[in-house]
Amino acid sequence: MKRMLTGLQPTGEITLGNYIGAIRQMVEYQEKYDSFIFVADMHAITIEQDPAELKKNIRNLLAIYLACGIDKDKNTIFLQSENVYHANLSWMLECLTPYGELTRMTQFKDKSQKHKSFSSGLLTYPVLMASDILIYDTDLVPVGQDQKQHVELARNIADRVNKKYNKELFTMPDALIGTNSKKIMDLIDPTHKMSKSSENKNGVIFLLDSDEDIRKKIMRATTDSDMSIKFDPDNKPGISNLINIYSALSNLSVSEVEEKFKDSNYGTFKASVAELVIDTLRPIKEKYEMYQNSSKIDEILDNGLNVTSKIAREKYELLKQTMGLTR
Ligand code: ATP
Ligand code: MG
Repeated sequence: MKRMLTGLQPTGEITLGNYIGAIRQMVEYQEKYDSFIFVADMHAITIEQDPAELKKNIRNLLAIYLACGIDKDKNTIFLQSENVYHANLSWMLECLTPYGELTRMTQFKDKSQKHKSFSSGLLTYPVLMASDILIYDTDLVPVGQDQKQHVELARNIADRVNKKYNKELFTMPDALIGTNSKKIMDLIDPTHKMSKSSENKNGVIFLLDSDEDIRKKIMRATTDSDMSIKFDPDNKPGISNLINIYSALSNLSVSEVEEKFKDSNYGTFKASVAELVIDTLRPIKEKYEMYQNSSKIDEILDNGLNVTSKIAREKYELLKQTMGLTR
């Protein structure tokens, strides 16, 4: 069985975009792969975080994973910072990675321009990601288009280090890009993607929003002055985004959604989208409450740490020995 590894950053409340674009796929993949799922808290601190807020977000994200159907018996679930070998291996890999390779990363260029001052971690983040992947001999890494370049870097590092020491130290990982994964856009500004960290929360549906808030946000979503429910992302980004949301949650194709609502006006269509989102999120919200207040999360993390640290330690020791870091 192929090994798959994936994680989300605990940088805020989880959005409908995260659910449709990432978490739902994880639920599907847990049936097919030896699945490792983690909370990427060490990645989150590349941008400044409030400690109390971060701690809360870590627990919330774990409760969300479970509430969305990620099964503790079908996945190895762990907290990145608890497994000390990730950062240790990352340091060695950093020393084997040319500086120029990191300054070329698109995400670094974007994020370093957005912030006046930023940590060195923002630059070396992709090496930590390579370490997360390579430490488990991961075969598959599900990512959105935005993270593809980082998987490519992990492959370059694996290949270079294997060749340098003339040994199969690391397995070559492949990016796994979901065929039916959709990019969900902001409801107020449908030309930008929906993000946890958006300034205007009215454009973002959070999984734990009340039914009333969901209804309000969707009814006020930006649309156009045309009247037709047609998928046309360039000219009708707002309506196309709502069609995408409806399609993703109903499992109807885009054209089936167009057909279903061909005689509806925008108000009726929006109300139907809102009800579908509410119905989808209701059971998630109920389960979330249950998991968040249970000791299950701690049991799961203890087990995850136990399983992953054994595997990670072996890989760490192997590179350490190979590089001569030994007495
Ligand atoms: P941030 O604003 O902090 O970057 P984010 O909402 O972009 O938060 P990430 O933690 O960066 O979330 O991404 C988690 C996962 O969710 C990734 O796999 C990413 O591809 C996916 N994802 C994020 N936003 C969307 C979206 N709007 N539509 C589809 N998938 C998304
Ligand atoms: Mg993001």
